[in-house]
Amino acid sequence: MTEEQFRALGHNLVDRIAAFLASLPARPVTPAESPAEVCAALESGRPLPQEGADPAALLQHAADLLFEHSLFNGHPRFYGYITSSAAPIGMLADLLASAVNANAGAWKLSPMATEIELQVVRWLAAFIGYPTGCAGLLVSGGNMANLTCFLAARAAQAGWNIREQGVAAGPRLVAYASTETHTWIQKAADLSGLGTAAIRWIPTDPRQRLDLNALELQYNRDVQEGFRPFLVVGSAGTVSTGAIDPFAGLSAFCTERRLWFHIDGAYGAFAAGVPAAAPAFRGIELADSIAMDPHKWLYAPLEAGCALVRHPTALRDAFSYHPAYYNFEQEAVNFYDIGPQNSRGFRALKVWLALQHAGAAGYRAMIQDDIDLARHLYQLARNHPELEALTNQLSITTLRYVPPELRPSLGTPETEEYLNTLNQRLQDSIERSGEAFLSNAVVGGRHALRACIVNFHASAADMEEMPRLIVRLGRQVHAELRLRPAPPFTTE
Ligand SMILES: *Cc1c(COP(=O)(O)O)cnc(C)c1O
Repeated sequence: MTEEQFRALGHNLVDRIAAFLASLPARPVTPAESPAEVCAALESGRPLPQEGADPAALLQHAADLLFEHSLFNGHPRFYGYITSSAAPIGMLADLLASAVNANAGAWKLSPMATEIELQVVRWLAAFIGYPTGCAGLLVSGGNMANLTCFLAARAAQAGWNIREQGVAAGPRLVAYASTETHTWIQKAADLSGLGTAAIRWIPTDPRQRLDLNALELQYNRDVQEGFRPFLVVGSAGTVSTGAIDPFAGLSAFCTERRLWFHIDGAYGAFAAGVPAAAPAFRGIELADSIAMDPHKWLYAPLEAGCALVRHPTALRDAFSYHPAYYNFEQEAVNFYDIGPQNSRGFRALKVWLALQHAGAAGYRAMIQDDIDLARHLYQLARNHPELEALTNQLSITTLRYVPPELRPSLGTPETEEYLNTLNQRLQDSIERSGEAFLSNAVVGGRHALRACIVNFHASAADMEEMPRLIVRLGRQVHAELRLRPAPPFTTE
């Protein structure tokens, strides 16, 4: 590709992207197509091209496919899962990062990129009030950030050389986490060789927070039975309802027993930097490690997760190997030495630029906005005769549609079963409408619609539209179900 060609193609693509971004509010959130329809649009059976093709046509075609057959998490009414809209500066940052193509595995291969990543790690720690002398690195997302911290805890706490001798060389290690903990912990227990049976699931209180008394009972039982507890996990914003575990109590519990205290803050840790939300996070600064996801509340385009570990050498102790053919100086940080990856992309650039573009104050305001919007939606649901508001924590609100004639029988098994079916169908119907996107949560056995606002495009007017949409489609689904009763829906 010549310089002139590159310029022309690039300008063209940027123009198309700018128009696409501007067009998002007018598009459906998702075309809600079937896999067969998407494969047909792609011509997925087409064999590997043997001959090259015109790059202008290729880029044109790729943009057409993606713009017409994607779900848009940058849409103002996308509130599903915990997936955020992408900051435009992050899109440009990815282009720049690819252009330089720094290999951020070793300092020598990526001098400026490595130093920028280290600065991002310090800035992220500073944003949430964590000690900036911690070690840390960017990884692909929350799962990998939590796994990285889990492995650091395992190496530090085992009491034998578990990296060399494996898990069979000592007593069985066990970890504690609430029943609301994200599934990363099963993967971490599995991948680290401990097995998922090593997870002690601790029940939660009515606000979905880990129950400290239940933790202590389970811990005592395990010690008596010869297990070796090594890790307690708290969540800074659970994935279902945004619950924040009692960090000060968890930290004291861990300090007394010399356990590693890890916080999964993939979603919510950023809110610890927001004054009105900060009190609920008291004790977050005491954690031995924290996982957070800049691709959630910092609006970095996927992928960007971050692992922070308090003890500056704990990551090296968990990951370092020194083959003879690695002749990298030990003065500088070489990220291959403190994490699971070897060659690494430059994920930090999009986070670094976005942090400066908005500033910490800008982020605090945007996060507070999302929290306020979720609260607004909760209030609207509370005041609506056909909606039941269930939970509201951080920027997650759960609610469900309840037909007026069923309100008197709420809580009876038949009505609850019916409402679970109704709201499950309703969630699908909202998705198919393309007007908004919600995911679901199970709150005390009830199938809830769940809106998670990590979206700087969302407005109060969008929140006000939601009850109208939910009730309109809810009435429709209810009428259909009454005509043609559905088989019972179970949440398992
Ligand atoms: C999103 C999330 C994860 C997983 O993060 P990924 O980036 O999807 O890998 C883990 N824990 C919590 C609380 C989350 O919200």
